[in-house]
Amino acid sequence: MNRETIKEIMHEQGILPQSRFGQNFLCDENIISSIVSLCGISREDHVLEIGPGLGSLTVPLSELGCDLTCVEIDTGLAAYLSSHITGANIVNCDFLKYESAACPDVVVSNIPYYVMTDIMKRLFGDFSGARRMVFMVEDEAVARIDCGPNSKQYGPLAILCKLYGSFNYEFRVPHTAFVPQPNTTSAVISFSRRDTADILSPEFVKFLNACFSMRRKMLKKNLAAVASSEDINEAFSRLGISENARAEELEPAQFADLYLELMS
Ligand code: SAM
Repeated sequence: MNRETIKEIMHEQGILPQSRFGQNFLCDENIISSIVSLCGISREDHVLEIGPGLGSLTVPLSELGCDLTCVEIDTGLAAYLSSHITGANIVNCDFLKYESAACPDVVVSNIPYYVMTDIMKRLFGDFSGARRMVFMVEDEAVARIDCGPNSKQYGPLAILCKLYGSFNYEFRVPHTAFVPQPNTTSAVISFSRRDTADILSPEFVKFLNACFSMRRKMLKKNLAAVASSEDINEAFSRLGISENARAEELEPAQFADLYLELMS
């Protein structure tokens, strides 16, 4: 889908992009086909797209013959897609409230930037069985995704990303690739699942949020909300974690070990 097609659809359908939903539609056909091929989709796959918008990614995805579900918060866009795209199941709801018993094989999203962290936490918590995830994000947000202990940006999101699997920064996307154009540069990133993702669950996400609830406090203090001090002391000594440690000092694998010790 190119710039002219997107403008034509918006004009014909009377659609005005809603900035409150982060609506910047992708209109560069080379970038669209690169994203679709990075997904590595086969006909047998169940694919989940979050925020299909006007269908820039949805149309080529629907042509792959896979089982495609798209979750769109905007009722007008969801209605437009339902009547114009065959080969995709369009669900009109907020992805943060989306319930599904089935786990997709592949997740793809040009993520609405205002809600990136919450969407990724939800994905890694509830849909971590997926073998691959490909996202467009704000370029400057990559620092919160790809960082390690003792850095300012390190927190639950970076830990979930590391435990989910291998991360790749694919390419930068200029603001000119969208209608309307955002103020920032974007980036396409991808993840491939590893066995370390087995630990991920909604409960594990809650556990991480509790660990980082007060960043400057000792981890032990934050954990008091979810475990007894006796259990915490025992787990810390078994895992060789200093009793004064703060959450930001622990490696992702240490959070997985601590969760298994304390919560299972
Ligand atoms: N995929 C399209 C593209 O690449 O052109 C649109 C991407 S646009 C950046 C983000 C899309 O996500 C919009 O269609 C917006 O309405 C939708 N969206 C925003 N918040 C959402 C949410 N919480 N759940 C589902 N969709 C959401």
